[in-house]
Amino acid sequence: AHEGILRRQSLRESAARTYARSLPIVPVRARGLTIEGADGRRYLDCLSGAGTLALGHNHPVVLEAIRTVLDSGAPLHILDLATPVKDAFTTELFATLPGKLAENARVQFCGPAGTDAVEAAFKLVRTATGRDGLMAFSGAYHGMTADALAASGGARHSGVTRLPYPYDYRCPFGTGGERGAELAARWTENLLDDEKSGVPRPAGMILEPVQGEGGVIPAPDDWLRRMREITAARRIPLIVDEVQTGVGRTGTFWAVEHSGIVPDVIVLSKAIGGSLPLAVIVYHEELDAWRPGAHAGTFRGNQLAMAAGRATLAYVRENGLAQRAGELGARMLARLSGLATAHDCIGDVRGRGLMLGLELVDPEADADATGARPAAPALAAAVQRACLDRGLIVELGGRHAAVVRLLPPLTITDEQADAVLDRLADAIAAAVR
Ligand code: PMP
Repeated sequence: AHEGILRRQSLRESAARTYARSLPIVPVRARGLTIEGADGRRYLDCLSGAGTLALGHNHPVVLEAIRTVLDSGAPLHILDLATPVKDAFTTELFATLPGKLAENARVQFCGPAGTDAVEAAFKLVRTATGRDGLMAFSGAYHGMTADALAASGGARHSGVTRLPYPYDYRCPFGTGGERGAELAARWTENLLDDEKSGVPRPAGMILEPVQGEGGVIPAPDDWLRRMREITAARRIPLIVDEVQTGVGRTGTFWAVEHSGIVPDVIVLSKAIGGSLPLAVIVYHEELDAWRPGAHAGTFRGNQLAMAAGRATLAYVRENGLAQRAGELGARMLARLSGLATAHDCIGDVRGRGLMLGLELVDPEADADATGARPAAPALAAAVQRACLDRGLIVELGGRHAAVVRLLPPLTITDEQADAVLDRLADAIAAAVR
């Protein structure tokens, strides 16, 4: 069955398929961190649906929440009407919001995908400001539709201006550290204030507190505070994309809490649906200037996703899983740093909470001013394959797909975390041999 399914799908599916190409497995059962394939092999899943599975696969509280809705006879499809299920979801969501958003938030349900919510955020700030352009950062990932794609650097001729993001290891200013982050902030400031730059004041700025797909690059807290100041002083709404960083993953419930900044808009998806499709924006009520019907979409009322999401948000909050992610993530990062000392091909390890990355480089090549050597995508792919051979699923990211990413569920135990790192260490040793 296993080989047949793989063969038929590789013939039937689009050339654009990605994960199925690098992970030739046929999952038939899953629980927590573990996936079981049709061939009976078991894998530790550190991809977690690209960070979606905060509680891992098929967590009992999520299954129970879904069953309760199914057994209640409630409508499953209900457009965006008010329901008890939605009421419970928004109550739980609002209880988690940071700073002044907690008192003044509005929520817009946007559709199944993160990219839907990003588009909605752009429409919201354009309506509220009457301006059109957008600012985003190099290395960002916000989705695959129109402006979300443009903000991810995937489309030319758009109204999106791309700014340098403070990447310490490959600092665009060649300095790294706090100085690099400060130079990135000044670049942004100068561009906004230079009337001859040809860049009109934008409708909004969007950023990720930790770039995920971009290669696990945590933004320094000081830089985030600078971005908040810079946008506030110029009345530019700041949109923070917490699609991947939200719901405890980085060590706080929302990643913006590390820096204490309060965005004007937060984009949420992935974990908030408890493994089912759900995407929303929450934003300050001042921005709520769009007209009824200004944003629509048939699938904005997924009751099962809201129930699964409410259960997930509550479980993370009640069990202190954000703090747990911070502590365990720090221990895992320390062990990864040890691995980097042992292997010249590991250029950098970084992350925040349970969002960890390990950048593979060519150890023979010369280092640049920040100590970074050229990325080694072929080696990264070999490490990913060697991980799979050892029953470990990891994802690659970053501009050159040379960053091994670990996004385990927040429920991962200490023993499981050790097993993940043992297998990864073994895979790296095998790949460089
Ligand atoms: N924003 C971020 C930060 C993401 O990581 C992703 C998906 N990886 C998206 C937006 C887009 O979400 P979706 O794939 O659900 O459209």
